[in-house]
Amino acid sequence: MTQPFIMQMRPLFGDEEKRAICEYMDEDGFITEFKRTEQFELMIAEYTGARHCIVVNNGTISLTLAALAAGVQAGDEVIVPNYTMIATPNSVKMFGAIPVFVDVEPETLCLDFAKVKQAITSKTRAIMLVSANGRYPSVGIGAFEQLAREHNLVLIEDSAQSLGSFYPDGRHVGRAGVIGSFSFSAPKIISTGQGGALITDNDALAAKLRRLKDFGRSGGGNDIHGTIGYNFKFTELQAVIGIEQMKKLPVRVERKKEIWRRYATNLEGLAEVRLFDHDLKRTTPWFIDALVEQREALIDYLKSANIGTRVMYPPINMQQAYKVPGDHPTSQRIGMHGLWLPSAVQLTDEEIDRICATIREFYKA
Ligand SMILES: *Cc1c(COP(=O)(O)O)cnc(C)c1O
Repeated sequence: MTQPFIMQMRPLFGDEEKRAICEYMDEDGFITEFKRTEQFELMIAEYTGARHCIVVNNGTISLTLAALAAGVQAGDEVIVPNYTMIATPNSVKMFGAIPVFVDVEPETLCLDFAKVKQAITSKTRAIMLVSANGRYPSVGIGAFEQLAREHNLVLIEDSAQSLGSFYPDGRHVGRAGVIGSFSFSAPKIISTGQGGALITDNDALAAKLRRLKDFGRSGGGNDIHGTIGYNFKFTELQAVIGIEQMKKLPVRVERKKEIWRRYATNLEGLAEVRLFDHDLKRTTPWFIDALVEQREALIDYLKSANIGTRVMYPPINMQQAYKVPGDHPTSQRIGMHGLWLPSAVQLTDEEIDRICATIREFYKA
């Protein structure tokens, strides 16, 4: 008998979201961002401990706005990891800044500090630090904050994968940068279908971000424009869903950790699969990431057993869209051996056991 298909990832919405949308529709017909959006922003600010939260329509434009608000301009160099979702470099490429690719650390998959130092030039204006799968760099975030200060660079955190992850000093990931950015796209730990959020403690930057996302308006709904701005606003329907998702976040954080532990226990001693380690006390595995042998054959084998996987991001410098020469051994290795195993928060223990048993079966054959 064939088993039901296990997707590598699928978002999870429930009756709470459905009910909340119906309630909202009964009381207001504007749909565009308003009170519910403010409430959603407050919930994120409270959870992360940030002074301000501004939501926008996705986690790519949020990075663009972060860079623009922080003063990055066309022609400036921005250091980004060579292993990340393509949105990180594209967000600044969009307005003519130049992403500079730097390799990541083999254990944390975050920017390699020594290599970042080497990559700094007179044109470098910002570092976009991606907390890969909730992890933080092994040198500690403080080293990056100090480096940015020393070289007068802007530290922006792409924390799209890190809601629910904290630094050892207790700060939520995203709070070390002048601006931190999150995504609520379908695969993220909570989702609003599409959506992004920016956090900052800086009042002036927060005000700038609000103007940038709303035509440069000086206040709600007026037509007085002191600065250039665009339209990257949110909607109440997304906010209504986001509020319900935020309520579920603490439970999801715990479940994601349990899922990682169960995989780790089940796959222990299997030399062909190496899970990337996690500091579960502080960080939350968003996806189960691993280096695997015979990756393509394993993917096929799992697929025939109705188990979905997803290859990890290829090295960005080698993507057709960029084609920048450079030797980046860690991101290249991930590009050949990196695999995301099923990671949805609704994954059951039985499903994890089935996945791991199938993986062991593959390597025994
Ligand atoms: C998901 C993700 C993004 C992009 O977010 P969208 O909301 O899909 O635009 C950016 N950076 C990282 C690291 C991501 O994981």
